[in-house]
Amino acid sequence: SSLIENNVRLDRILYPKPETLKPPRTDVLTIAPWLAPIIWNGIFNSDILNAQFHKRGVRIGLTTFAIKKYVRFMKDFLETAEKFFMVGHKVNYYIFTDRAHEIPNITIGEGRHIHIINVTGYQRWQDVTMRRMQMIRDETYSRFINEVDYLVCVDVDMRFYGSVGVEILGDVFGTLHPGFFGASRQQFTYDRNPKSVACIPVDEGDFYYAGGYFGGKIEEVYKLTNFCHSAMMTDKAIGIEALWHDESYLNKYFLYYKPTKILSPEYVWNNYYGSPAAVQIKRFVGVDKNYDEVRFR
Ligand code: UDP
Ligand code: MN
Repeated sequence: SSLIENNVRLDRILYPKPETLKPPRTDVLTIAPWLAPIIWNGIFNSDILNAQFHKRGVRIGLTTFAIKKYVRFMKDFLETAEKFFMVGHKVNYYIFTDRAHEIPNITIGEGRHIHIINVTGYQRWQDVTMRRMQMIRDETYSRFINEVDYLVCVDVDMRFYGSVGVEILGDVFGTLHPGFFGASRQQFTYDRNPKSVACIPVDEGDFYYAGGYFGGKIEEVYKLTNFCHSAMMTDKAIGIEALWHDESYLNKYFLYYKPTKILSPEYVWNNYYGSPAAVQIKRFVGVDKNYDEVRFR
C-alpha cells in the first residue's frame, strides 16, 4: 500500500521499532568519532535499505582484477557474487584482465552484466596490485561515471559466503582489515618512512583499512585512486615504495580524508584470523593461495 501526497510516494514497511535504550550491538564500535557508521551485522535492516535504494534505481559497479594466474579465482568469485552481492539491484562487473579469453562464462542474473576491460599485466606483483589505482582512476571519467552510481573495488582472491548489500554504500567507504581491528596504533602496519608520502606518524591513525576493499560514489573513487596513484608516482621518482604498497597509500588517504562509512571485517575476512565473537558473519573471505606459485611461476 502507498500514499501519494504532492508527488511523493510513501510506502508502508513493517519492522521492529529501533530501541534507543537497547542498541543492537554493544560489543563493537558502531560509529566513528567523525560520525561515520561502522557496519556490523545486526545494526541495519536490509528491508528498509533495499526499499530506499530501489526507489533511486541505484546502479552498482564491482571492479576486480584478474591478471595472469589470478584468473583462476574468477569463477568462484563470480558464482558466489551472483548469490550474495547486491541481489535484486543493478550490478555491472568490471573485470580488468590480461587474459580475457580465460574469463569463465557464467550465467548472470537479470539486470547484471559482465564487462571485460583489457589491461596489460605488470611484471612485478607489487606493480600489479599498485597499478589498480591508476587503472580504476583512468576508467572513472571515461566510463564508470556514465554507467554506475557507486563503485565497490575488491581483490579477486575471494569468495562471498554471506549477503553484501546496499548497507555498504556511501560517499566513500573503507573496510577494517581483519588482522587489526583490535590493534593499537603502534601495531598498525602503516608505512613509517618519513620520506614516503604514505608515512603515518605513530601518534596518528584511526583504523587500519584493508587495501582489498574500498569504494563509494564515482567522484569520490576518482579522488581516492588519483591520490593513491599520484603518491605512488611521487615515491617511485625517488626510488621508494610504501611498506604494504597500495594499502599503505590508501591508509594515508583515509587518515586525512575520512571515509563516510566504514565496513566491519565481516566484509573482508580471512580464516587465518580464526573466528572472533565480534565477527558473527563472514561475508567475503580470502581464498587460500600458494603465494609463491600464484605470483611468481
Ligand atoms: N592481482 C592479480 N594478479 C597478480 C597479482 C595480484 O590480478 O599477479 C590482483 C588480484 O585482484 C589480487 C589483488 O591484485 O586479488 C591483490 O593481490 P593479492 O590478493 O595477491 O594480495 P593479498 O590479498 O595477498 O595481500
Ligand atoms: Mn587478496
